[in-house]
Amino acid sequence: MIFVTGKLYWPETLPAPSLYPALTEDVKCDVLIIGGGEAGALVSYYLKQHDVDVILVDKRRVSGGSSSANTGLLQICNDKTLTACMHSFGEQKGVRFYELTRQAVDELEKISGQLDQSPDYIRRECLYYASEPADAESLRAEYQLLKKYGFPVMYFERADIEKRFSFSKEGAIYSKGDAEFNPYKFTNGVIAHSVKKGMRVYENTEVVHQKVQDGGLLVYTNSGHTIACRRAVFATGYEAQSMKRNANAVISSSYSIVTNQVEAFTGWPHGCLIWETARPYLYIRTCPEGRVIVGGLDEPLQKQDASSLKKRDQLLAKIQE
Ligand SMILES: Cc1cc2nc3c(=O)[nH]c(=O)nc-3n(C[C@H](O)[C@H](O)[C@H](O)COP(=O)(O)OP(=O)(O)OC[C@H]3O[C@@H](n4cnc5c(N)ncnc54)[C@H](O)[C@@H]3O)c2cc1C
Repeated sequence: MIFVTGKLYWPETLPAPSLYPALTEDVKCDVLIIGGGEAGALVSYYLKQHDVDVILVDKRRVSGGSSSANTGLLQICNDKTLTACMHSFGEQKGVRFYELTRQAVDELEKISGQLDQSPDYIRRECLYYASEPADAESLRAEYQLLKKYGFPVMYFERADIEKRFSFSKEGAIYSKGDAEFNPYKFTNGVIAHSVKKGMRVYENTEVVHQKVQDGGLLVYTNSGHTIACRRAVFATGYEAQSMKRNANAVISSSYSIVTNQVEAFTGWPHGCLIWETARPYLYIRTCPEGRVIVGGLDEPLQKQDASSLKKRDQLLAKIQE
């Protein structure tokens, strides 16, 4: 699967990440983590808190999957609204999910502070605006629900938005407690942190097959060498679909651009995160060195990047708007 086309921004911010060897012998461990993206890195972090003997492998370089392309928005309110979560899972579990996202943003701050190199974790407020005037009613209902369960939110009417921002919308939820970071620095940093605690890492090492053996797993890699482990964690991101198909999963294409440095962010208070009620949604953030990242315009999976330049221009027009 081709993950990304075009030039990635985050790897430029960390020109000399740690390199790890490929597997050249048969090895053993307690837990094998397959995939060195944000998810695999975090699993390693928690396992190494308990001194578990861990090996992590990645078929590319670590953080070479979607963690090198993602936008680094860390949001309590997410793709599935609290209203939708309560519909799907019931009140208690829906609210619990939102409490966990809040806890996760805090936890990522704590972990970021323990890394040798800062992943540029910055707390941000967040504007979630009504893309169309007709969305304002359900947005207000979502605000009331979030407030009822103690989430730090305010509701902005059109006049409140116009007073603070350089654009106008019918309404918006303005929330505290979100954050942004550099996902590439974070993933590399967490893996380096786990390596310091004794984790072994093999890059360019693809898991191609596995079988149950002696109450654990024997995992085969592309080099012909095996890894015997008691447990394995598959943290293979979007490629998990090729190992264990989920009939409900849909892979689509998404686009994002990073601008040149911008002199001032007039009409954009505190560099807050900005996104909207439309689906697919547009999302916008700033970077520490004064650039703007904007993403969105998702569409059914494209096999080639023929439409990239058109998408770039559309995203630029959206920021200007
Ligand atoms: C454009 C874009 C923007 C996004 N923005 C955000 C955002 O703002 N905030 C957010 O929270 N999320 C965002 N996401 C989602 C984001 O991708 C995930 O949050 C996160 O980066 C996924 O991490 P992961 O570890 O699950 O997957 P990945 O980073 O893709 O890691 C999976 C790893 O598994 C390896 N692998 C796969 N198969 C094998 C195998 N057989 N053997 C060995 N290794 C294997 C791959 O090489 C890869 O390195 C965005 C995604 C995209 C595409």
